[in-house]
Amino acid sequence: MKIEPNITIAKIAKNLGEGKISSVEICNHYLENFTKKNSVFNAILSINKEKILKSAEESDKRRKEGKVLSSYDGIPIAIKDNLCVEDEPCTCASKILEGFISPYDATVIKKIKAAGMIPFGRTNMDEFAMGSSCENSAYVKTRNPWDKDRVPGGSSGGSAASVALSIAPAALGSDTGGSIRQPAAFCGVVGLKPSYGIVSRYGLVAFASSLDQIGPFTNSVLDSAIVLDIIKGKDPMDCTSIDSKIANFAELLSQPYSIDGLRIGIPSECINCEGLDNVIKENFNESINLLKGLGAKIIEISFPHWKYSVSVYYVIATAEASANLARFDGIRYGLRAKTEKLSEIYLESRGLGFGEEVKRRILLGTFVLSSGYYDAYYRSAQKVRTLIRKDYDEAFKICDVILTPVTPTPPFTFNSKSTPLQMYLSDIFTISVNLAGNCAISVPSGITSDNLPLGVQFTAGFMREDILLKTSHIFELHRSIKSFIPPEN
Ligand code: GLN
Repeated sequence: MKIEPNITIAKIAKNLGEGKISSVEICNHYLENFTKKNSVFNAILSINKEKILKSAEESDKRRKEGKVLSSYDGIPIAIKDNLCVEDEPCTCASKILEGFISPYDATVIKKIKAAGMIPFGRTNMDEFAMGSSCENSAYVKTRNPWDKDRVPGGSSGGSAASVALSIAPAALGSDTGGSIRQPAAFCGVVGLKPSYGIVSRYGLVAFASSLDQIGPFTNSVLDSAIVLDIIKGKDPMDCTSIDSKIANFAELLSQPYSIDGLRIGIPSECINCEGLDNVIKENFNESINLLKGLGAKIIEISFPHWKYSVSVYYVIATAEASANLARFDGIRYGLRAKTEKLSEIYLESRGLGFGEEVKRRILLGTFVLSSGYYDAYYRSAQKVRTLIRKDYDEAFKICDVILTPVTPTPPFTFNSKSTPLQMYLSDIFTISVNLAGNCAISVPSGITSDNLPLGVQFTAGFMREDILLKTSHIFELHRSIKSFIPPEN
């Protein structure tokens, strides 16, 4: 069997099941792609080839003996470098974690291993998941698979790029304000941010704990459902995880489904916002027309507090980050400054180990939590977060799914954002979903005249992955461009 670029894991599983290919052949194929492409694109930070091939051999043995762990046994999946995989490095693309080896598996890793899937390399990211371009990685700059002079998005840019480049057939990332959906759109792959709590965060290095969620990058909506089915579920190690008791999503997608009569909300504030590129607007209108043609009812909705979401996010996320990152003190993990005095070890290790953006966020977060400013910033931000959540609740009384662009512009070039705020605004369409805890998915929706991929975002209510996945699946089946394969592939 030939593994074509951007093959789905559903198809790989079918071929594995029919004995047309082995896990060793699959892993060798992706390892070859890694060798050919990674030196140019820098999607992967570290990889253990022997360990991957050993796992593949074990999987093939299980299959021969009729003891497969799941239909996906033997399929590789790339892992963002902020998820703990036992005995592997976990740097969060930060110098402060250089040399740190994770002593345990994150719950999602335990789950993918229990399904027989094989962790395949650690993907590059913005340091501690802070950024939208991977330019904040302390190690390398990942290049966009469609245009080497452009960013892949961030923070999970390495995960998105590895799937787009066929270095791996799927990847895991994390999304605090858009870090799965934005790079998915920039690289032309599917990116899913599940509802808050559906997936355990145990073993994910925390950035902003009330916003972080783990989710998949894949080549199809069905593949996202498959990976979500594998990684979801309540976990005693994460008290914010919930027992979703929801259907098997992949199975839901195999049943007949139509969106005739489905109410799709378009927030007027979002589509009339400043800075929205014309290419995005045109493509967005094409997506609306496609959905209309399939029988969906388009409803204009209002999000009165949406305009505050970026500001609210940068108060809440930085406050939480300043507390979460306090543990990196030069004593317990990774880098330690070569000095004797304890207070100097703390200060110098953090000074040397953290990059500029991380320091900026820690300072901002510490400031908004400090006495005298707490009420003015942090408490106010929490109140506005509730109002944003209520905007969604109101909207979902009159519509089933919300449609917006994923990003205000197509992928941008390196060093083109001259201020932090300019970079922060690239998540303007994704951030409010995390503040509300809802689920959303980025699906490729078009290609610009200069051959850059574009995406559209579907958002559904809390724990409404069923309707989210069904709607985006139908969209994917009917969109005019059938495959999104970058020129290098
Ligand atoms: N780009 C946003 C930030 O810099 C979101 C990052 C994320 O989702 N991890 O914080």
